[in-house]
Amino acid sequence: LKISAKLKKKFPGLFIIVGGNNAELNWTLYYSKSIDLIYHDNGLKTFDALIKASFSREAVKSASGVCYKENGKWVENAKGEAICEFEFEPLRLTDYKKTNLYSLGSFALVKGSWSCPHKCSFCCCRKMNNGKYTLINLESLLCEIEKIAHDKIFLVDDDFFADKTRSEEFCKAILDRNIKKQFIAYARADFICENYDMLPLVKSAGFSNILVGLEAINDDILKSFSKQTTKEINEKCVRNLRENNIDCICSFIVTPDFTRKNFNDLKFFIKRNKIQRYLISPLVPFDSQINGKIKSKRLDGIAINFKPKNMTKVEYFIRLCIFYARLFINYALKRGK
Ligand code: SF4
Repeated sequence: LKISAKLKKKFPGLFIIVGGNNAELNWTLYYSKSIDLIYHDNGLKTFDALIKASFSREAVKSASGVCYKENGKWVENAKGEAICEFEFEPLRLTDYKKTNLYSLGSFALVKGSWSCPHKCSFCCCRKMNNGKYTLINLESLLCEIEKIAHDKIFLVDDDFFADKTRSEEFCKAILDRNIKKQFIAYARADFICENYDMLPLVKSAGFSNILVGLEAINDDILKSFSKQTTKEINEKCVRNLRENNIDCICSFIVTPDFTRKNFNDLKFFIKRNKIQRYLISPLVPFDSQINGKIKSKRLDGIAINFKPKNMTKVEYFIRLCIFYARLFINYALKRGK
């Protein structure tokens, strides 16, 4: 918003539009003088129509899922239906440098579903697409993957394995069609535990890494997140993947009430379970319930957007940095071998 205000000051005629995940869920946070249009619709069909109409007043007024100003007041048009297909063929770049996953190389991003059928309390992904879990036609997904001239694919579905039958079909089709790619995708720890028999198929289809939101190593915290998993499930998940030569990239959430003991327990959990790759994210107050204010500039890094309860913000930040320092030192040592 600060940047849009600066731009508006310098170029008063500029038409400024905001969109993306946060705008899609919390559009009122962007009700600002410097913003002209907020795009919060599902999919890009409406946006395409607006471009074709050069954002004319009539087109904006009749578009679904947009907010615009009229006589200085914001008008909110309701969202359209949830989507289950892309309306456009993705405009593929051939240079994937920007989608480089540290130490794993660059990946082409592909999306096969919207939203998620699970209900973890901290998660905003499940609220996307009108909170409706929809899947792209499997054949379209496979065709898109076949067309990509890159050997590494990141399936960015919020939970690629949420539909077991479909993920099994996907893996079998990859093998039948002799598609030779390296895949990375998100899965849940309970899925990995309940479907041990499927893991050899997953591995042979090309999944050498799976991202799992373990989130916490404490059953009470997991319960408070409505994660429907336990510490035991998390440990079993890491073990199951390792036994199948699949690298588990674990993500954890640290909460404002984290104590020194919580940080130490997490450190020992990572060590004991020989977790080589991990992400640690401070919990982000993400809802519009947060007094109508955006609390975060960055939602993906280690920006801390709250006042820690049990230590100073500086100590909390240093403790987080130590986790990442350990991670990078381990990579460097491995590379040096
Ligand atoms: S399983 Fe993952 S994507 Fe689904 S609601 Fe939970 S955290 Fe969100």
